[in-house]
Amino acid sequence: MSDFDLDLFVIGGGSGGVRAARVAAETGARVALAEEYRMGGTCVIRGCVPKKLMVFASGFPRAFEDAVGYGWTVGETKFDWSVFKRELDRELDRLESVYTRNVGRPGVEIHHERATITGPNEVTLASGKVLTTKYILVATGGHPFVPETTPGHELAITSNEVFLLEKLPAKMLVVGGGYIACEMAQIFAGLGTQVTQIYRGTQILRGFDTTAAELIAENMLSSGIDLHTSCDVVSLTKKGDQIEVQLTDGTSPDVDVVLYATGRKPNTKGLGLEKAGVELTPSGAVKVDEYSQTNIPNIYAVGDVTDRLQLTPIAIREGQAFVETVFNNNPTAVDHGDVPSAVFTQPEYGAVGLSETAARAQGEVDIYETIFNPMQTAFAGRTQRVLFKLVVSRETNRVLGCHIVAPGAGEMIQLAGVAIKMGATKADFDRVVAVHPTMAEEIV
Ligand code: FAD
Repeated sequence: MSDFDLDLFVIGGGSGGVRAARVAAETGARVALAEEYRMGGTCVIRGCVPKKLMVFASGFPRAFEDAVGYGWTVGETKFDWSVFKRELDRELDRLESVYTRNVGRPGVEIHHERATITGPNEVTLASGKVLTTKYILVATGGHPFVPETTPGHELAITSNEVFLLEKLPAKMLVVGGGYIACEMAQIFAGLGTQVTQIYRGTQILRGFDTTAAELIAENMLSSGIDLHTSCDVVSLTKKGDQIEVQLTDGTSPDVDVVLYATGRKPNTKGLGLEKAGVELTPSGAVKVDEYSQTNIPNIYAVGDVTDRLQLTPIAIREGQAFVETVFNNNPTAVDHGDVPSAVFTQPEYGAVGLSETAARAQGEVDIYETIFNPMQTAFAGRTQRVLFKLVVSRETNRVLGCHIVAPGAGEMIQLAGVAIKMGATKADFDRVVAVHPTMAEEIV
């Protein structure tokens, strides 16, 4: 037993912090955790979970449309945001209490307030309470970034507020070309909002595979999203209940909601990191080594605040690995390579490994790809094509990347990820017999 009040103080009750606090307490350590907003963090309260529920809600019109093609008569369909919102709020309340219970059960002391670091072994709560601790884990996540140079930027909302909207907007502008912007544009278009999406770059989903990004843009346009690339906001002006948007292409649409999804920044400001001597990266993230340790030996950081890979399963793994390293005497580094991920557009995009561009930068590759109209939507006459693509090393025959744009791609890529992580070659894929008739048989 150390001379400190605690063995571990975790700042942040999100994916990484909750996992670390719970498993550290299960080793018998004395653990406290502070959360200034809601337990569960971004993923549960204003990220993955509410977003996926909205993706489900927004998918029904396509199902109704397809049903007609198969001979069904579909009566009047209408979406009631207030019903959806009530159910969403109820589900998030439920999840928040599950998270609180799970972390409290092994004895973690939860403080529902902001915490700051006031010394290498000291944390001060907003209420003024000071606690000493052997280890500190910074798991404070990140926040949406809105460029403050745009006049009227304060009229815009971000992903933090989008799940709190009381009304479904009739018209919406989504600013950004990353995965959150694309998902939000698709969700609201599916729910019946007239969506314009603008992105200042030439192609959405920068960093992802180009063929996939191009096809997703084509599918978004065909689903009614007014997508403009090489376009930015000049200014936002209040106009009655609406917002007038001046765009660099000379147009000035009036919309009900402007949603900025223009990137996220780590939550490191005002946390006392400088006071404790913790080094930051040039982008303001906490600088850590492979064991999530900072330059101050007893201070660690996991999850989005370290800006490695901003994904929930990564934050959870880093939290778990931190406990293995520090409390189980088993130094464990998280492998950030070949991490499967999904973009929940319609259809979805699942990706693992390298994009074609990234692979070509490393050596010669062979590309196996097919783009086609899936059987299921043929009767509906809907033109939303799907993609199956393998990026293969010419030298080793190893599959370096797999890219799928198709309904259920998020589920498919999880399994393709196993093969790729095991080092599968194109010949291994080819040895597997197809499941027929499926879309995924294209991959073998
Ligand atoms: P967070 O979950 O952000 O938790 C940090 C917590 O710390 C917050 O609750 C915050 O309130 C609290 N906090 C901050 N400062 C303090 C302080 N000083 N004192 C007390 N508490 C503090 N990832 C996926 O894998 N799949 C997805 O589909 C996906 N979709 C997303 C959609 C959206 C709209 C967004 C925004 C993110 C999405 N993500 C997704 C990313 C995922 O949510 C994050 O990677 C993950 O939540 C990071 O976990 P974390 O523990 O690092 O931080």
